[in-house]
Amino acid sequence: MVRKEDLANKTPDEFFSSFPEGYISNKTKYIIVTGSVISGVGKGTFTSSLCNLLKWNGLKVHPIKFDGYLNYDAGTLNPFRHGEVFVLDDGTECDLDLGSYERMTNQNLTKDNYLTSGKIFKNIVDKERAGLYLGRDVQFVPHVSGEIKHFIRRCALNYNPDIVIVEVGGTVGDLENSYFLEAMRELAYEEKKDNVCFVNVTYILKPGTLGEHKSKAAQLGIRTLMERGIQPNIIVCRSEGLIKDSIKEKISISSNVPIDRVINLHDVDTIYDIPLFLKEKEIDKMILDTLGLKIKENYLIDPNEWKSLVTKINDSNKNITIAITGKYTGVHDSYLSILNAVEHSAPYLNAKINLKWIETTNLNKDNVKEELKNIDGVIVPGGFGERGVEGKIEYIRYCRENKIPFLGLCYGFQMAVIEFARNVCDLKNANTTEIKQTEDPVVYILPEQEEIKDLGGTMRLGGFDMDLKKNTLAFRLYKNNKVRERFRHRYNVNPKYIETLEKNGMIFSGVAPEKKIMQILELKDHPYFLGTQYHAEFTSKPLNPSPIFIGFIEACLNKK
Ligand code: GLN
Repeated sequence: MVRKEDLANKTPDEFFSSFPEGYISNKTKYIIVTGSVISGVGKGTFTSSLCNLLKWNGLKVHPIKFDGYLNYDAGTLNPFRHGEVFVLDDGTECDLDLGSYERMTNQNLTKDNYLTSGKIFKNIVDKERAGLYLGRDVQFVPHVSGEIKHFIRRCALNYNPDIVIVEVGGTVGDLENSYFLEAMRELAYEEKKDNVCFVNVTYILKPGTLGEHKSKAAQLGIRTLMERGIQPNIIVCRSEGLIKDSIKEKISISSNVPIDRVINLHDVDTIYDIPLFLKEKEIDKMILDTLGLKIKENYLIDPNEWKSLVTKINDSNKNITIAITGKYTGVHDSYLSILNAVEHSAPYLNAKINLKWIETTNLNKDNVKEELKNIDGVIVPGGFGERGVEGKIEYIRYCRENKIPFLGLCYGFQMAVIEFARNVCDLKNANTTEIKQTEDPVVYILPEQEEIKDLGGTMRLGGFDMDLKKNTLAFRLYKNNKVRERFRHRYNVNPKYIETLEKNGMIFSGVAPEKKIMQILELKDHPYFLGTQYHAEFTSKPLNPSPIFIGFIEACLNKK
C-alpha cells in the first residue's frame, strides 16, 4: 500500500504517485485475467493452472486476486455464502482462490497476493485522516486506481517475479470491480504494449431449450470490457462440451481477437488436467509471444512430475468411501481445501475417493451406525457454534469405539476432546465454552483472546511452529520433530484437563513450543484416530501432500 515515503515521488498536483520508489518500468510483465457473462466461470482455476504452466517454463509468477467486496478480508464472510475462508501463513484470511493458487503453484503466498476494495478504501481514508493528501479532494481517479496500481507495482518491486498475474474477481460490468478494470486499463497504458496481456475468461451458454451453444452473451460481455478501454489479447471460452468453430469465429470478429487466440476450455474431468490442456492449446506460447518473454532453462515446476501425478489420478483404482460431516454440507466450496487435500493425496496411495456428505443436525446414537455403514473413514472439519455439534460428537464416539479411521480438523479436534472427556474420562458435562458455560470446560477460550471484542482478523491466525513428541503417530507421519501448520481458532484444550485426558489415554503429540496449546491429539490401539487444532488441509499441495491426509487415507485403505 502507499506509504508516506512514496509520496516523495508524487505528481505535484495530486500529492500521489502510483509508482513506488525504486520501481523499474519495462521490467516486469503483467497478465490480467477478467471474467465475463457469469461469475463462477472458472477464472480462479484457469489463473492458477496458468501459473502452474508458466512455472513449467521456468517463469517466476506472483499471482494477485482482486476482490470487489468492501470487507477488509474474507475473515468475516460466511463460508456458506462465499465458500471457504482460506488462511495464509502470515495470517491473512482470504478468498479460496488463493488456496487454488498455492496448490497449483506449489508455493506459499502472503497478504501481498490479495487485495480487496475494503483494504483499498481503508487505506485511502486512513491516509486522508492523516492529512497525507494535503488539501486535495480524494477521487476514484487517480487515487483509487492509483492505489491499486501501486499495490501491483510494489509486488513487482518487492518479489521480483517475471510475471505478475492479476485475477479481477467478479464479472466485467459489476460496479464493484469497475475501478479495478480502470486501474488495469491505466496500467496497460503506462506500462506500454508488450508488457501487459489481457485474458478474458467468458462463458458460452447452452440453453436447455435450444440444445446448442449461443455466443451473444459472451460477445456482449467482451464488448463491455472493450468499452472500458481494454482490448483482450486472448479469450478463453468456458463451455459445457466443445464449441463449434462458427462460435469461435463470432467471438473473434466481435472482439478483434484472432481466432487462433480464442481457446475453448470445455469442462474437463479434474482440475489437475487443466495445465496439460492449456499446454496442448499452447496458451503459454501465446502469452510469451505477447509479452516478448522467453522460456527459461530451469523449470520451477517439473512438468513430468505434474504429468505423472495426473496419470496416477487417472489410474488409481482402490475405491474407498470417506464421510465428511458438517453444517455446510450443501456447499462443497465451503470445504474446498479439504476436498482438494483428499483428492490430491489419494493418488499417492493408488486410492480413488468416494465422498459422502453427512449433515449432523439430526444424528444420534440410534442412527449413527446406519449412517456410517460402508464408510472407511470420517473427517470432522472445522466450524463454529452449536449447530450439529452433538451429532459430530456421536460420530466421533462411534469411530473411536469401532476403530473407524477418524480425522478431526480444528473444531473436529475440539469435538474429539469433548467426546473423550465425556465418554472415557467420565466428565459428563464436558463441553466447549464456545457453546456453553459448563462444569467441565475441557475446551475454552485462549487466554489471549479473552479481551478481544472485534470479530475481523482477531483469531489465532496463520502459521505457527510446533514440537512433535517422539514415538507418536504424528512423528511417524511428519518424520520430523518440528513442523509448521496454519491455524484459525479462538478456543483450545483447557490446560487444567490435560493431565486427566492423558491419564485416560489421550496423547497430545503436537504442542506449541513454550505455550500450553495442544495441537495434535491421537489415541493408541486405534488404526487412525487423530485430531489437529490446525487446518492440515491448508498446507497440503498436489506435489507435496500433507502427511496427515496421507496417513488418514492409508488407514482407510487398510480398514477396507
Ligand atoms: N470454533 C472453534 C474455535 O474458534 C474452531 C474454529 C475452526 O474450526 N476453525 O476455536
